[in-house]
Amino acid sequence: MLNNVKVVLVGTSHSGNIGSAARAMKVMGLHNLVLVDPNCEVDEQALALAAGAADIAENATIVNTLNEAVADCSLVVGSSARSRTLEWPMLEPRECGQKFVQEGQTSPVALVFGRERTGLTNEELQICHYHVCIPANPEYSSLNLAMAVQTLSYEIRMAYLDREQSQYTEEPQPEYPRHKELDLFFEHLNKVAVDTQFISQDQPGKVMNKLRRLFNRARPEAQELNILRGILSAIEKKISDK
Ligand code: SAH
Repeated sequence: MLNNVKVVLVGTSHSGNIGSAARAMKVMGLHNLVLVDPNCEVDEQALALAAGAADIAENATIVNTLNEAVADCSLVVGSSARSRTLEWPMLEPRECGQKFVQEGQTSPVALVFGRERTGLTNEELQICHYHVCIPANPEYSSLNLAMAVQTLSYEIRMAYLDREQSQYTEEPQPEYPRHKELDLFFEHLNKVAVDTQFISQDQPGKVMNKLRRLFNRARPEAQELNILRGILSAIEKKISDK
């Protein structure tokens, strides 16, 4: 299950943080590190700070966009030091650990961290199903990147150990769509909203953002998403028949 957990670092500037994050992961049993458009190399400093976890830093997958990094994931959680203008479903770190352990049994799941100075953009935060905030000192709540990775990885480990020790048999998990499928659905929904002139292509407003939030909150299962895609295709067919 822990192999299904991806730790995704977006736009990291300091290579030392990549090394420290790799170490933070390995001590908690996590191995899968993804770097999105890093602003530094996995250099000597990274490897020095990774210590016994240099393999994780060296084997990190590097991609250009967050969408690519999480395409195969059924659960995406973004970590953020502060709540933005954007209200989004929130998880406590403990709940976050439990959700990862539960959902990571059947498919890849991603925990996303932002840039050292500016965190994650609103667009990146909107890709996530949930946001998680470590409830630190309100007067200074921004942890160093690798320490945030450590804290949330610890919660995943605690939930994992709890589950290992518990006597209960697993409940069957619903099958959730992967991020890529959800993204195609949003594209389709946008197209139909524009084609039916519900929204204007030139002035789309915030409707799609609100719909993204709605569907991320509702978490449709794979089969439910297929029904929605079917309805959109039926609408498209009806319009093109006219
Ligand atoms: N000034 C930035 C802080 C970035 S710290 C901001 O306000 O967003 C780098 C990353 O560490 C953040 O993007 C986030 O992923 C993580 N992080 C730091 N403190 C955190 C906290 N209290 N809760 C959750 N994540 C945190």
